[in-house]
Amino acid sequence: MSGHRALAKLREAKLRLQRRVAFTYEPAARDCRSCPAPAPCCTDVHFVNVHITWLEARAIEEKLAELPEETRQAVRLRARAAVETYQLSDEGDTYARSYSCPLYVAGTGCLVHQGGAKPAPCIHHACYDDPRDGPPDSLQLALEAEIEALNREATLELNPPAAALNAEHEPCRWRPLPLWLADSAQLDAQDLPGLGQGRPQAAPRVEEELTDRPLPQVERAELGDLILEPHHRR
Ligand code: SF4
Ligand code: SF4
Repeated sequence: MSGHRALAKLREAKLRLQRRVAFTYEPAARDCRSCPAPAPCCTDVHFVNVHITWLEARAIEEKLAELPEETRQAVRLRARAAVETYQLSDEGDTYARSYSCPLYVAGTGCLVHQGGAKPAPCIHHACYDDPRDGPPDSLQLALEAEIEALNREATLELNPPAAALNAEHEPCRWRPLPLWLADSAQLDAQDLPGLGQGRPQAAPRVEEELTDRPLPQVERAELGDLILEPHHRR
């Protein structure tokens, strides 16, 4: 599978879960715009330990490529600061260390809320007064299994960066999100070059990504809501 095809399938899988969570479960969730916490959970250094794979990091970078250069640079600086401040690395129990997410911008929210680049735990997470109202863990686990399979398939065809492989040199590796974003050069691959050398071509818009599977009218309407109200959730 080509890298571009794998990325398109990745975005489609994430958007599918994002739509399902948004319209099935999140009506019962607290509204992040009136969050009682002193700061959004995305910046809670005791809470966030989101890990992502190479393909996901690449999808995030391509989403960020649609933003102004200064915004991208600011993300890069925050990612490097997070790596240093919270001592993030590939060593030991990487899930034991948490950080403030470099993709959160006050007043804007999550920079990758749209476009099928949001990490699986972030799609799944919201605050529910009754936990039984939230989505089952199996939905996140199923998406993560799909993500792993796509990373493996893409790796068979490409010459992926070393960071994409785990300690046994096998795909795929889950790493703390800032580790990937601190250095975009590590995201290039055989048929996905260019992120390290400047602004890549912007990722296709959400509607175009799904053209090989036309959306039923109701799904397109739901997708529209996600686009129109991107920061309903963080
Ligand atoms: S999910 Fe929303 S409501 Fe819950 S802590 Fe995070 S920002 Fe606040
Ligand atoms: S929702 Fe976005 S900003 Fe928040 S932790 Fe996830 S990726 Fe980072």
